[in-house]
Amino acid sequence: MKLKQRLQEPARELPVMGEYDVVVVGGGIAGVAAALAASRAGAKVCLLEKVCALGGLATVGNVIIYLPLCDGNGRQVIGGIGEELLRLSVDEVPVPEIRVEPVPACWERGGDLEERKKHRFRNGYNPITFLYKLERLLLKNRVTLFYDTRFCSVIKEGRHIRAVVVESKSGRTALLCKTVVDTSGEADVCVAAGEKTPSIGGNVRCGWYYYVDAHGQVRLRALSANGYLPSRRQPGDKYIDFKGDSAAQVTAMTLASREMMMADLAAIKAKEGGNPYPIMIPTIPCFRMSRRLTAKVTLKPTDDHRWFDDCLGMTGDWRKAGPIFCLPLRSMAAVHTANLITAGRCMSSTGDTWDVTRVIPTCAVSGEAAGAAAAFLAREEDNVGFFDLDVQTLQKHLRRRKVIIDKSLLK
Ligand SMILES: Cc1cc2nc3c(=O)[nH]c(=O)nc-3n(C[C@H](O)[C@H](O)[C@H](O)COP(=O)(O)OP(=O)(O)OC[C@H]3O[C@@H](n4cnc5c(N)ncnc54)[C@H](O)[C@@H]3O)c2cc1C
Repeated sequence: MKLKQRLQEPARELPVMGEYDVVVVGGGIAGVAAALAASRAGAKVCLLEKVCALGGLATVGNVIIYLPLCDGNGRQVIGGIGEELLRLSVDEVPVPEIRVEPVPACWERGGDLEERKKHRFRNGYNPITFLYKLERLLLKNRVTLFYDTRFCSVIKEGRHIRAVVVESKSGRTALLCKTVVDTSGEADVCVAAGEKTPSIGGNVRCGWYYYVDAHGQVRLRALSANGYLPSRRQPGDKYIDFKGDSAAQVTAMTLASREMMMADLAAIKAKEGGNPYPIMIPTIPCFRMSRRLTAKVTLKPTDDHRWFDDCLGMTGDWRKAGPIFCLPLRSMAAVHTANLITAGRCMSSTGDTWDVTRVIPTCAVSGEAAGAAAAFLAREEDNVGFFDLDVQTLQKHLRRRKVIIDKSLLK
């Protein structure tokens, strides 16, 4: 829906809530990884999040499968914070009914390669305990958290963002910043900064929810309509095609998904009897791919096994064995805003490759890369931008942090 009518907002002074080297917008997996990486690289960091939880889709969206860190051929391609968060998410006691599953034993130190080819390096976790552990981790790493705080706009001077404007219980306030990491999932900061940000439809009704079955057992239902990728749609498939870039679409998608969930429960009841009832539903909209940055490099399927000299991390493909993608700085940094970088599901990626870069482990990789880059940029003079950074120094730093950046994996 295009909003045509316009009003002039009166100019007003904003109280300054703080001054940071790095402001991270959005506390999903990408934002957590970015904040952690930036703080560990010595930056003063704050993270703002519109709901009162960390983890985004991976916790309050009830998406609880930490997809693989490997390439499906027995080789690990994601290390660093991507692996740290996976290990953090592991619960002591497996609960198959809610898919709390351990990492396959072959992925422990010294594991057998043939077994690693058969079992991917992934696990399933409990969203509540994971969320709590993420909070403790960020606080331990001196990240300032602002919950219930929504990013609204930016104040720019030339090509640089000098402050982000937020709204919270403290009213409308500003945070002064040297760099900004957009991990909002929908590229909200990029939109406000005037970057090119295409939206796609194709998001279907979905919602993973927990319910108590007829026997009193808690279960997880991974509910989703088919066809979120055009390539996967069958002729005649019924799907509803939502975009995540307007209040009307977000509301419509949320309401339709909830309706689908209740119909699904009714179907379970008809089949199994008893009185199954829901106990936990997603509390954020569950868009897979909606709006993203268009950066200098937009990753695409033909970039499989392609080396980029500014590669800041790598990923496999959760859907099949074999593909490996590099995540270059140029697929994350904004084009027209010198001190803005993205990570997670709104970095620059398209088609089937967007379906790869959007998942939890890969969001952690791009988040760590973007956060470290932001901390490095914050040490520079005011007028410098992400493309002026010495990429090799940044790669060296990331490798020391166990991030896998290894050209030989592409052979
Ligand atoms: C139905 C479904 C099933 C999936 N299944 C899997 C799976 O099994 N395994 C897997 O690995 N991945 C899965 N994914 C994908 C994965 O969960 C997400 O793509 C990934 O977690 C995204 O992380 P992110 O940090 O980029 O974004 P998000 O998780 O979307 O985090 C963005 C955060 O920013 C906050 N935010 C947004 N706008 C603002 C603003 N203006 N101000 C302040 N805060 C803001 C949001 O509240 C949110 O916390 C699934 C996704 C869906 C929808």
